[in-house]
Formats: sequence, C-alpha cells, structure tokens
Amino acid sequence: MMSKKYLIVGAGFSGAVLANQLSNSLDCHIDIWDERDHIGGNCHTKRDAATGVMVHEYGPHIFNTDKKEIWDFVNSFVEFKPFVNRVKAKYKGKIYSLPVNLHTINQFFNQSYNPAEAKDFIATQADTSIGEPQSFEEQALKFIGKDLYKAFFYGYTKKQWGCEPSALPASILKRLPVRFNYDDNYYNNPYQGIPVNGYTELIEKLLESTKITVTLNEKFQFSKDVLNNYDHIFYTGPIDAFYEYKYGKLGYRTVTFEKHVAQGDYQGNAVINYCDDDVPYTRVHEHKHFAPWEKHDQTVYFKEFSKETEATDVPYYPKRLTDDKTLLLQYRSDAEKEQKISFLGRLATYRYMDMHHVIGEALEYAKLFIKADAGEAVLTAFPNVEN
Ligand code: UDP
Repeated sequence: MMSKKYLIVGAGFSGAVLANQLSNSLDCHIDIWDERDHIGGNCHTKRDAATGVMVHEYGPHIFNTDKKEIWDFVNSFVEFKPFVNRVKAKYKGKIYSLPVNLHTINQFFNQSYNPAEAKDFIATQADTSIGEPQSFEEQALKFIGKDLYKAFFYGYTKKQWGCEPSALPASILKRLPVRFNYDDNYYNNPYQGIPVNGYTELIEKLLESTKITVTLNEKFQFSKDVLNNYDHIFYTGPIDAFYEYKYGKLGYRTVTFEKHVAQGDYQGNAVINYCDDDVPYTRVHEHKHFAPWEKHDQTVYFKEFSKETEATDVPYYPKRLTDDKTLLLQYRSDAEKEQKISFLGRLATYRYMDMHHVIGEALEYAKLFIKADAGEAVLTAFPNVEN
C-alpha cells in the first residue's frame, strides 16, 4: 500500500504534537506549512541578540498542567526546570500580591486577618444576591466583592478585552483562583515549569522525523488542488480565515509589545500587572526572570498593550461574545460536513486554550485518527469539545 500524504497547516503545539504522533504510528509523509518564518506558533522562543535572554516572543508562556501524562510527554522531549509564576499587581501606586490571596486582602484593606477572619470579611463584601454568575463581573462581585473587583479586575479587564466586564463570560475570571492563605502561585496545577532551552526546541524535537517536512513562510489557502494532493488536511489556523470570512469575522484581541533593554534588574519579577485604567498597558514582563537558572547582566522587558485584531494582526484571545458564538456555529456546521479536513487547536476551534489543553487535545485526536485509519472508529472534524 502507498504511504499516506497528510498536510498539517500550522506548526504550533497542535500541529507539532499531531505530526509527532501520526508519524510515530502511521505509514505516512507529513507536510507542515506555517505562514510565519518560525515554528512554535505563539509559544515561539528566541534568544535576544542584545542581551542573550531567552524571550517568549509572543508573551509569557508558563507550562502548567494537572495531568501527569501530559507533563511526562513534554518532558520526554526536552528538559524542563521548575518555575512558579508569582505575579504582582500595581494599583494606585502600590504593589500587591496576586492571584487574590490572604496577602492581597490584608495589603488592600490594611488588615492582618487570618484565613477565617478574611473569609468572614470577604463574605460581607460579596454580593449574595447573585445566583449562578452570568458574566465576568457577576463572578467577581459574587466571590470577592466590589472593592477588590474594581481595583484588580475592572480596569485590567477593560484594557485587556476592550469591553465592559459585564459583557464577558464568567469563565474568563474562573481561570484565576481566590485563596485565603498566602499561596501566591498563579496556577493551581501540580506540574509547572519552563523548558530550559525554550519552547521552540521542544517543537523542533516533536517534528524531528524523516517523515515530516516543514515549510515556513507558506500561507495556506484552500483549493481543490491542495485537497486532491493529500489524503487528509489538519487545519490549525483561524476557522473564519479557512472559509474566507464568508459569514463574517470572529472577534479576537491581539497584544503588542514595546521592547526595552536595560542594565541589571528592571522590576525584580517576571510579570507585573498594571491594573489602573489610566495606564495604557496591561502588564510588563521581564524575560530573564522566566529562566532564573541563567545569569544575565542586561535585561529585556516588554510593556504589553491590548487591542482589537485587525486584518494584519496576529489573533491571540478569542473574545467569544454572543455574536461570535453565533458565527462560530455557522462555521462549525460547514466544517463538520468536510470529509478530509480536521480542525484543531485554539484558532480552529476558537477557544481560550492553554498549552496543556492544546497538547492534550492533539494527543487525543491523534489517537482517534489512528483508530479511524484502522477502521476502528469514526473520525469527527473537531476534537470532542464542548462549546
Ligand atoms: N485579570 C485581571 N487582572 C489581573 C489579571 C487578570 O482583571 O491582574 C483578568 C483579565 O480579564 C484576564 C483574565 O483575568 O484576561 C484571565 O487572566 P490570565 O492571567 O489567565 O490571562 P492570560 O495570562 O491568559 O493573559
């Protein structure tokens, strides 16, 4: 039998994990195209020429997962070192601990509450009239009350998302814990770290097979010719772009970075969030602090700004407002009718996904595809996802 020919569009984590798994198990050749001049998608890392610091080119990426198998999987390709993200927040000229924890509460209210006292106090702040929170704002008012919400979430979220938090889903805020102890680890997941030589090396390792050919600077455009040339296409770009925006554009926020180089240590921490409305950027990240095992005399830091995505911008955060979801259903319904095309990852499924979600889904989908190839399962156009 002739070996199969697959095309994967996009060399981010979705595309790379899929290519790795399919090349391991199937008699096939895989072409991966990426429209950028590098692999790794938004996880791409590169040493800064001026300072030698490993830079997360598209903003901070801290790997964290609760699944041992996903942690073991990424660690089987490259070395990770432990990294705990301890974000600070600046508000009205003072620095606070994040995510909201006992220290934040005591700093903000100028108290020295113990956990039980803080819980009782926050209960007096919380809006108990809210049942199941229907928005980001309701989620905040229900769990932390008006004052903490206004200080740490209202201004930051308006800047980040460009709309009122009352228009955003509660799920965005549910990403962040609220703690009544001094644990200031940004994530709850037990496995956390950063690859010693950056993420791009991990992607390179995933793609290290003679069965895989990577082509950069190659923009995909759907055509009958491309479709006929391959046994299957796996598309990880924006789903609305695949269909040439025929129903309209899905909303994304994009971020831009203002780069600065300095001597020594600029802010003493990897990430500081700027929560005031009148500071135009959302956060500042200083990348040498993502690799505390390295020593650098100089430093490079970035002010991050958020804005609506325009034609030439990189789409980052899916907004998923009501109109977006209606559009998404139209695109999905077309996609589900495709015979030889699959849609994977953050952009093709239009969801807010962390690296570990993307990797987990790509692993699962590869299993499904391999089973379907053997006639033991029915392939679906999308991974098994909820909307
Ligand atoms: N957020 C906020 N203030 C902060 C940090 C986060 O209001 O200091 C909100 C904001 O709306 C953000 C969301 O919480 O989009 C999720 O934060 P997370 O840090 O998970 O965002 P990411 O790192 O993915 O940009």
